[in-house]
Amino acid sequence: MNHYDTIVIGGGPAGMMATISSAFHGHATLLLEKNRKLGKKLSGTGGGRCNVTNNGSLDDLLAGIPGNGRFLYSVFSQFDNHDIIRFFTENGVKLKVEDHGRVFPASDRSQTIIQALTDKIAELGGQVRCQVEVTSVKKIDGQFVIKSKDETWTADRLIVTTGGKSYPSTGSTGFGHEIARHFKHTITELEAAESPLLTDFPHKVLQGISLDDVTLSYGKHVITHDLLFTHFGLSGPAALRMSSFVKGGEILSLDVLPQLSESDLLSFLEENREKSLKNALKIMLPERLAEFFVQGYPEKVKQLTEKEREQLVQSIKSLKIPVTGKMSLAKSFVTKGGVSLKEINPKTLESKLVPGLHFAGEVLDINAHTGGFNITSALCTGWVAGSLHYD
Ligand SMILES: Cc1cc2nc3c(=O)[nH]c(=O)nc-3n(C[C@H](O)[C@H](O)[C@H](O)COP(=O)(O)OP(=O)(O)OC[C@H]3O[C@@H](n4cnc5c(N)ncnc54)[C@H](O)[C@@H]3O)c2cc1C
Repeated sequence: MNHYDTIVIGGGPAGMMATISSAFHGHATLLLEKNRKLGKKLSGTGGGRCNVTNNGSLDDLLAGIPGNGRFLYSVFSQFDNHDIIRFFTENGVKLKVEDHGRVFPASDRSQTIIQALTDKIAELGGQVRCQVEVTSVKKIDGQFVIKSKDETWTADRLIVTTGGKSYPSTGSTGFGHEIARHFKHTITELEAAESPLLTDFPHKVLQGISLDDVTLSYGKHVITHDLLFTHFGLSGPAALRMSSFVKGGEILSLDVLPQLSESDLLSFLEENREKSLKNALKIMLPERLAEFFVQGYPEKVKQLTEKEREQLVQSIKSLKIPVTGKMSLAKSFVTKGGVSLKEINPKTLESKLVPGLHFAGEVLDINAHTGGFNITSALCTGWVAGSLHYD
């Protein structure tokens, strides 16, 4: 059969959930994916463990989606993060919640999530074709005509879930934007979001150190989250979030012990005055970071002058890190910008310009923080785009 009620292009979280929803609502549905397997980008999230959603409140979700999160009010009223948790639990996937509300499969394997989505598509009778790259889409006589190099399909309804333009090696090369442009949709400016930061800093010494819940600040922007020192600069949620506020040329301030005040630290040094400075700092900091901070100071705590103690405490509470730039769009975790939301019905995610055409996931002009918020947006918009709506 080459005619379907619904065809979905792109088998990431948005496309898989759109296929499930469409099949659940009784539509003959086909999902086309150009990779060998579904969910390639999803499999790499959460360090390969798949950060499938976040268990926060609606306010937490909106705060986690700084790029047009409010557009999703109606979507979340139909299907939200708690529905995602229920969906996986009811389909046999045990989940666990980690810090900052991040939800993972208890197996710590992304494959568990991808398999559950794939199994559900099959259970509902949805069809999947991998290794099929869609090359053109048209609408002729009220039907969508979808072509790959060798095949043609027709559909009454088309759902585009091809993702953004970040990490193109996972398949998201921006083809959905081309489809949207073909149908006269506006694409807002595409920019890197959740980008690792390039810094002018002794990277080699600190490379690989990861810190929990430190505070990174730039002016009024104060972010407390985990941070990772890399060979090029900073990554991890605190740096990725800060990337919305910097371009290069700024100086960040890092507090590696935000739970302690300067006077707490001075008292701590006094209490440990007989120790070597490095051994004292190692009580609170990773060894290599302690080694970094003690450079240029006397060996024993008691040998430090009052001024040196104050200087040291200052650098622990406010380490200056000059930003020289950000990773490019291709190397950023998320794409900011996409199909303009002004032209999309927020209740149905149907195009206001072309009846039957829907968009879901990162192809839309929505961007969120890592921590499960993008995936939540993709799964929830996927569900709504796949649903049948009766006005
Ligand atoms: C390293 C990394 C870590 C991340 N970590 C997190 C995290 O912790 N939390 C979080 O919320 N988000 C995270 N994200 C972002 C999140 O993975 C994406 O926002 C999400 O996968 C978007 O889902 P999507 O379904 O819209 O698009 P995608 O997952 O990009 O899927 C789009 C699919 O469409 C297919 N496709 C494209 N063009 C065609 C075509 N012409 N024909 C057929 N198929 C096509 C692609 O091959 C791809 O499989 C991370 C991203 C990266 C790169």
